[in-house]
Amino acid sequence: MSEDFYSALGVSQDASEDEIKRAYREKATEYHPDVSDEPDAEEKFKRIKRAKEVLTDEEARQAYDRLGHENFEEARKRGGAGSAGGGGRGGGDPFGGFGGGGGDPFGGGAGGGGGLGDIFEQFFGGNGGGGFGSRGRGGPQQGSDLRTELRIDLEDAYEGTERQFTVSRPERCPDCEGEGHPPDADAQTCPECEGQGQITQVRQTAMGRVQQVQTCRHCEGEGTLYDETCSTCSGEGQVRNEATLTVTVPEGIHEGQTLRMEGEGAPGDPRAPNGDLLIDIRVEQHPEFERRDDDLVYDLAISFPQAVFGDTIQVPTIDGTVEFDLPAGTQSGETFRLEGKGMPRLRRRGHGDLHVLSQVVTPEELNDEQREALEDFAEAGGEEVEVSQGFFKRLRNSL
Ligand SMILES: [Zn+2]
Ligand SMILES: [Zn+2]
Repeated sequence: MSEDFYSALGVSQDASEDEIKRAYREKATEYHPDVSDEPDAEEKFKRIKRAKEVLTDEEARQAYDRLGHENFEEARKRGGAGSAGGGGRGGGDPFGGFGGGGGDPFGGGAGGGGGLGDIFEQFFGGNGGGGFGSRGRGGPQQGSDLRTELRIDLEDAYEGTERQFTVSRPERCPDCEGEGHPPDADAQTCPECEGQGQITQVRQTAMGRVQQVQTCRHCEGEGTLYDETCSTCSGEGQVRNEATLTVTVPEGIHEGQTLRMEGEGAPGDPRAPNGDLLIDIRVEQHPEFERRDDDLVYDLAISFPQAVFGDTIQVPTIDGTVEFDLPAGTQSGETFRLEGKGMPRLRRRGHGDLHVLSQVVTPEELNDEQREALEDFAEAGGEEVEVSQGFFKRLRNSL
C-alpha cells in the first residue's frame, strides 16, 4: 500500500488548489535531489510532484477521489480512466492527451515576449548547475521534468497565442555528450567499487545484520574512471544554457492548466531521454470580464430611463462588440445570457456564454431640468414602489 497523494503533500482531502500548490513548493524545496541529503529524496520528489500534478488538475483530482489511490494509479498505468496527470512519458500531458489532434502543440514560430518565473533559479541556482539525473541506479536515468510559469491575459486565452520565452536550464554538455570526459580519455576500472558502481556495506545493528547498497561516490556509480575530465562542463556532463523556446498556448486554456513541452526538460544520463518542460499557465484577471469556466460575466451600467424603456446597447465581448436589446423594465441585478459570446471551449467546439449583468446607475447629481422632471415623476405617483411578485427571488437567482 503506498501513501496517498494528500498525505504525501501533507494536506487534507478538501485542501484548496492554492494550499496544494503551497504544500508542494515547500516539499519540493525540501526533497529536491539537488538539495536534500536523504537517500530516497528523488523518489519522494517524484512522488510529491505527481501528487501535485494530479491534485491541481480538477478533472484528475475528481477521478482520483472517486477511484481511490490504488485504482487511479492502476488505471493510469493501463492508460485508461484518469490518464490526466504527468508521470509516464507518452500520452502524459497533465490534462490528458494534450496535443492530440492538431499535431505538435509546441511547434515553431515567433511570438511576443513571455514572462518567466524564477523557479529555475530556485531549483538549479548555486552549485554549478549539476542536474539531477542520477547515475548508476539501474540503467540510464531519464532527465527530470522542469517547471515554469507563463502569464497570459484573457485575450490570449481567448485567441490562443504563441509565446517565445527564455529559460535558463541545464543541458547536456555538447563537447562530451554528457559523459563528463573527452571521448578519447583513457578509462580505468574504479578501484573503490571494483567497477561495480556500487558499494555494499554490512553493518551489525541491534536488529541483526543490515546490508546497505550505496552508489560509489568515487566514480559516481559508473564503475569507470577517466584520466581526463571534460573542461567544458568540469565533468558534470551538463552545462547551463539560456534556451529560447516557443510554446503554443491553445485557445480556451484556463488558469492553472499546464502545458508540457516534451524533451525540453533537464538532460538525463547519456543516451537517456531528457525530461519535459512543464509550463503552468497563469491567466491574468481582466478589467472588464469575469471568467466563470467558459462563461464570461460583464457588468453593464444602465441609466434609469434605459432600465424603464429598454434600449439597444453595444456590449463589449473579447473580440469586438455585440448589439444587445435591453428589454423595457429591466431591474438592477438582472442578467441576460448572450449565447456563444464567452470563451472558446478548450479542445472542443463552441464557446461559453456572456452573461450581461445589468446595474442601474442612480444619478448623484442632477441638472435643474432633470430634477424638475423627476419631481414631476414622483408627484405623478412615482414614489409608490410597486414590487412585482417574485422580484427579490429573481434577483437572488439571477446568477
Ligand atoms: Zn566506483
Ligand atoms: Zn562536458
